[in-house]
Amino acid sequence: MRRLSDDPYRIARNRLLSGLEARGISSARVLDALGRVPRHLFVSEALRFRAYEDMPLPIGFGQTVTRPSTVGRVVQALDLRGDERVLEIGTGSGYQAAVLAELAAEVVSVEIIGELHERAREILLFNLGYRNISLLHSDSFSRAGGGFDAVVVAACADAVPGELVERLAPRGTLILPVESGGGQVMKKIYKGRDGRVYEEEFGNALFVPLVR
Ligand code: SAH
Repeated sequence: MRRLSDDPYRIARNRLLSGLEARGISSARVLDALGRVPRHLFVSEALRFRAYEDMPLPIGFGQTVTRPSTVGRVVQALDLRGDERVLEIGTGSGYQAAVLAELAAEVVSVEIIGELHERAREILLFNLGYRNISLLHSDSFSRAGGGFDAVVVAACADAVPGELVERLAPRGTLILPVESGGGQVMKKIYKGRDGRVYEEEFGNALFVPLVR
């Protein structure tokens, strides 16, 4: 990873981190990871000055880079220790994949739009040099394989896709937004050691739709 200690966005990034702490991101590990990822590189040059606001920003093709507090809330709920294999559905800009890669052993991220997949590849693999991220351009969840300790979906599904629950290893966690009563709720699905599945909701969400 490139050193960020003397980049021009350091002050803006630190201000964002203080705001996230105030919004309930309390895990020091998660805040450190968010502080290490240069979000301005994941948006177009014209939007860089807004990259450290806690806002979703357009990345083309009608898609957005997830807002930092949402990424923080999702990764905090996963409680990653560093040895996990994580699957992300919806690479988009690649921002959340970078945050996940700071916190887990391995990240596989799948994107359905070819141009976004290519752009994320350029930034994550060639520019930032992440060696623990694999990117797939696919409309199929199963191409990523299985046995994941965590699965995160960056787009809203109409119901929990059974196909994604199947990607989980025993004791794995799936986090995703699901449509509910005209809005969206965040769901956390936990697969027990015996394969039994438990579900809980944790708050509201606002994501672009998952393409099925
Ligand atoms: N985590 C991303 C946010 C991406 S927005 C970031 O940090 O930038 C959601 C992304 O999910 C979009 O890029 C969209 O193209 C993608 N997507 C939607 N449905 C999908 C599917 N079925 N498989 C893979 N990607 C999908």
